[in-house]
Amino acid sequence: MTLVINKGISPNNMVNSVLEISGVDINCCLQCKKCTNGCPVVTMVDTPPSEIIRQLQLNAGDDILKSDLVWMCASCETCFSRCPMKIDMAAVMDALRIMDAKKTIPARTSKVNKFNNAFLSTVKMFGRTYDIGMIAAYKIKTFNLLQDTDKFPAMIRKRKIALFPNFGADKKYIRRIFKKTSK
Ligand code: SF4
Ligand code: SF4
Repeated sequence: MTLVINKGISPNNMVNSVLEISGVDINCCLQCKKCTNGCPVVTMVDTPPSEIIRQLQLNAGDDILKSDLVWMCASCETCFSRCPMKIDMAAVMDALRIMDAKKTIPARTSKVNKFNNAFLSTVKMFGRTYDIGMIAAYKIKTFNLLQDTDKFPAMIRKRKIALFPNFGADKKYIRRIFKKTSK
């Protein structure tokens, strides 16, 4: 795969920003690719984890935030357990997500970001995820109102999706988590 480095887009040194946010120093990466070989989502993304690290080391600029992996990383920590240098890739991805969320330019993967926000908004509101509320919020955010609507009747018939939210969660506790993590 050709590695395209688009230098000079970001005046900031992203390696330092990642270090500041996540506490992970990616300068020690050996490019052994053990992380990439074990990553469960690597076949679904355009840039594997080891390449993200390399691009960051070469100061690839903000364009790296458009990589699918930034929002598709499952935080499974497989890469971390395989890495000989103990680089916590999930923490690096979290740092990149924070940087991406602060940007106003819509990224190619912004649908993932919108899904994430729709999911979190229902958790914040009801204490647990509420499928229909999340789907409605996601459709409004993406203006894709009719996508997959033909599947609704079967999903409701088979009870794959709840019509009403679950009010059983301790909302005070959930609100506290959101308050703490938003800092
Ligand atoms: S496993 Fe660790 S050292 Fe090897 S390429 Fe991945 S991040 Fe770098
Ligand atoms: S934490 Fe993310 S990058 Fe690492 S193996 Fe899991 S999905 Fe891949």
